[in-house]
Amino acid sequence: MMKHKKVLDNIISLLKERGASSVILINSADIIIDERVRLKCRVPVCDSYNKNLMCPPHVPSVAEFRETLKKYKKAILLQVSSELSEKSAKAPTEEVFLPARKLHELVNLGEREAFAAGFRFAAGFIGGCCRLCDECIAAQGGTSCRVPFKARPSMEAMGIDVIATAEKAGLPLTFPIKNKVTWTGLILL
Ligand code: SF4
Repeated sequence: MMKHKKVLDNIISLLKERGASSVILINSADIIIDERVRLKCRVPVCDSYNKNLMCPPHVPSVAEFRETLKKYKKAILLQVSSELSEKSAKAPTEEVFLPARKLHELVNLGEREAFAAGFRFAAGFIGGCCRLCDECIAAQGGTSCRVPFKARPSMEAMGIDVIATAEKAGLPLTFPIKNKVTWTGLILL
């Protein structure tokens, strides 16, 4: 991993330059998986459940992801934060989701850079459901993503406890959100 240190430092700097509020390198062993996260997709049922190709039940099971994660040693954890107006703090508006779109862009960028640098299994995970289309094709029963090279599942869709993972990494989150929203993403290396 040491020979990749400079490459990873460059990717981290790039992600910060492009708008990430925090970016750190973590050990994959510190990514916390909890089956209750997946349960929360269905209890109560999320409005994206079965209506987004990057959300359950269209993504690998938690057990499969837990097993695959063992193959990875390191990961980049990144966040995009934004202060919210009083209106958004009371009920989510588009203002809440704008930083999620930014995060998605940065996850794609970081994954691409890592892949180009030789991390051939680099895999990115966003925060929340994929919002690249106004309405996911899955909402109408479609099964082929319109933008497969950009669409990515979220950390929580894979069963990652985002709050516990971020906290362990020293990047605590306030949830439910109040006057600031923070979206967290991950790039397995
Ligand atoms: S890119 Fe569009 S079609 Fe593909 S998962 Fe995202 S919202 Fe759905």
